[in-house]
Amino acid sequence: MRHIIKWSLSFIALSTAMIVAAGGFLFVQNRGEKASTVATVYDEPSVAVVIDPGHGGEDGGCIGGDGTLEKELNLSVAKKVYDILTFAGIKCEMTRKDDVMLYDAYSDLNDYSGVKKTYDLKNRVRIAKESECKLFVSIHMNKFADEEYKGLQVYYSANNSDSITAALRIQSTVKDSLQNDNEREIKRAGSNIYILHRSQMPAVLVECGFLSNSSELEMLKDSDYQKSLALCISAGITDAMKEFQT
Ligand SMILES: [Zn+2]
Repeated sequence: MRHIIKWSLSFIALSTAMIVAAGGFLFVQNRGEKASTVATVYDEPSVAVVIDPGHGGEDGGCIGGDGTLEKELNLSVAKKVYDILTFAGIKCEMTRKDDVMLYDAYSDLNDYSGVKKTYDLKNRVRIAKESECKLFVSIHMNKFADEEYKGLQVYYSANNSDSITAALRIQSTVKDSLQNDNEREIKRAGSNIYILHRSQMPAVLVECGFLSNSSELEMLKDSDYQKSLALCISAGITDAMKEFQT
């Protein structure tokens, strides 16, 4: 845990520097020649990162052996990532902040039966697109028949090369600071991961861990572990965005 604490401190120092850098000072020249006024203008920054807690509402996602629902852990970790990035001066938006599906976010059909999941996923991509964000990050939990499997793994969208940078930075920060034994590699998303397949902006999906592994499930439910996880994901995001080509 010591390395995490040390690392957290350096992240906070970095964050503070970023906040200072983010404050926009604009020198306004008066029309007259004589005097110039120095004014401080904070422009409303555009959304840099959209964070998407997977599932919600009637869609619980994966279920752990003790009944833990994926949607709740996703929201909890996503909110922590949101708080850390916002503290670091990075403007973020979340696709959901409550326990809801998003199928009716943009439309008002009389009957959504049979199309709720489709509309829900479509709308998540639409929220990210309309925000004109630089990075779309979806937070999920994994599950597998074999209980041995554990560890975070990041999937990336093939539609934008900066997605690979984001996936690499998040994966390596987690390995270096939280899961030294994690040998997982980042994975290119196929058409089965709708939100990555349909996003044109840099986009990644973070599978934070396996609900099917009982010891990892216990950690994922722990608020302090969620904070460490969120810190690593956030640091990976900020590192990656400095390297973005587009
Ligand atoms: Zn999921």
